[in-house]
Amino acid sequence: MTSVSSGKSGTAALAADPSPSCICGAPLFRGNTSCLRCGSLTGYLPDRGWLLAFTLTRSRVSSPFPTYSNPLPSLTGRTFKPCRGRTTAHQCNWMINATDPATQCLSCSLTRTTPDLTRPGATDRWAGAERAKRQTISLPP
Ligand SMILES: [Zn+2]
Ligand SMILES: [Zn+2]
Repeated sequence: MTSVSSGKSGTAALAADPSPSCICGAPLFRGNTSCLRCGSLTGYLPDRGWLLAFTLTRSRVSSPFPTYSNPLPSLTGRTFKPCRGRTTAHQCNWMINATDPATQCLSCSLTRTTPDLTRPGATDRWAGAERAKRQTISLPP
């Protein structure tokens, strides 16, 4: 998983997903927030179009928020934080640069109105709409 090869000539590096699998070797799934085998945090990097597993770099104890990194050479020196939408009902799995003052990702920041989640079925419908929005604005796999 340390080498990146797209296998397709003429495609931009953005189109090559370097790691459809976790550090532990298990496959990663686009909508998941953690690896189903080892529990590593799973997140989508919107600027690369990559779904990756991350390891904790700094815990909440030593930082205002936990930060994460990935061992890919092209991501050396970069740390990330989860979108705050991760802790909501729609469980956004997008990641943000740790140095970014924003607390939510591009997709979540497009939400103008959150429905009244006390209404029956509203939570599921909202989660579905947020998932569809992420899928629509993300780079093609
Ligand atoms: Zn894993
Ligand atoms: Zn988000």
